[in-house]
Amino acid sequence: MELINSLADVPETELFTGGHGGCRGCGAALAVRQAMKALGPRTIITIPASCMATIGGSGLSTAWEIPFYHSLFECAPAVASGIRAALDIQGIKDVNVVSWAGDAGTADIGFQSLTGAAERQENIIHVCYDNETYMNTGGQAGSITPYLAVTPDTPGGKPTPRKDMLAIMAAHHPAYLATASVAYPLDLIQKFQKAGEIQGFRYIHILAPCFKGWGIREDQTVQLARLAVECGLWQLYEEIDGRRRVTVIPERRIPVREYLRLQGRFKTMDEAAIAALQAEVDRRFQEVQS
Ligand code: SF4
Repeated sequence: MELINSLADVPETELFTGGHGGCRGCGAALAVRQAMKALGPRTIITIPASCMATIGGSGLSTAWEIPFYHSLFECAPAVASGIRAALDIQGIKDVNVVSWAGDAGTADIGFQSLTGAAERQENIIHVCYDNETYMNTGGQAGSITPYLAVTPDTPGGKPTPRKDMLAIMAAHHPAYLATASVAYPLDLIQKFQKAGEIQGFRYIHILAPCFKGWGIREDQTVQLARLAVECGLWQLYEEIDGRRRVTVIPERRIPVREYLRLQGRFKTMDEAAIAALQAEVDRRFQEVQS
C-alpha cells in the first residue's frame, strides 16, 4: 500500500459532500470528510443517534455518496457486523464496513455493542469521533467528558475523570488501534488507509472539537484540536497487534493552561486543578512517547 504523503496527493473526490447539515466549523464533519478520502467509495457506514447521523442527511436529502445506515443508538457495531456477514456470504471482500459513532455511541450507550464486536474480532472498523459531550441532545456530560468540564448537567464542572477509552479498547486486542485529530489530516488519512488494509477489528478514536460544547468560536475548531496535541493531552499514535508507534511528535510543547483557557467549558478550573492536570499530562506523555 502506498500511503498518501502530501496534502497535494489527497483525492479530490468528495464522498461526504458540501451542503451537509453540520454547524460551521463542525469537527465531526471535518473528521468524516478526511476519513472518506482514504476509505473510498467501496465503503458502507453505520451511524447511531448522534450529530453525525443528522448532519449527513435527513428525509430525502443526503451528503453521503456511499451507502449510509442510521442505526439505533445502542447498536452501530452490531449492525456493521451483520453487514459484514452478509457481504462475506456473497463473497464480497473489497468493502470497508465502518461503524461511526460519537462518544455516547462508543463509550456509553453503544458500549455493549462495541465491546461485543471487538471481542468477537469482527472484521469492521469502529470510529469514535469524540467531541467529549452529548451534542446531539444538548451537550450533556458523558463518561469521556473531561474532568471539570462545564456542561448543562455539570454546571460546576464534571466531578469525575474521563474514562480511559483507549486503554479499554486496547484490552480487546484489536488488529489496529489509533488516535487521530482533525488538525492533522495527513496523519488521519494515513491511519484510515492502514485500517482499510488490515483484516480484523480496528478502532480509530478522533478528537473532533465542537464549538458549542467547548465554548469556543466556530473558527477555532482546528486550532483547539492542534493545541490539544501540542499540550500533550491528546497524543497521536497507532498500535498494530499491540505494538505502539507515535505518529506525530509535537514540534513545540505548550502548557495545558494555554489549551484550557481558550475554552469556556473549563472556566471553573482553578490553578491547583490546572497544575494537577499538567502533572498527569506530563506523566502520560512520557509513558506514551517512551
Ligand atoms: S453541535 Fe457540534 S458536533 Fe453537532 S453539528 Fe454542531 S458543531 Fe458539529
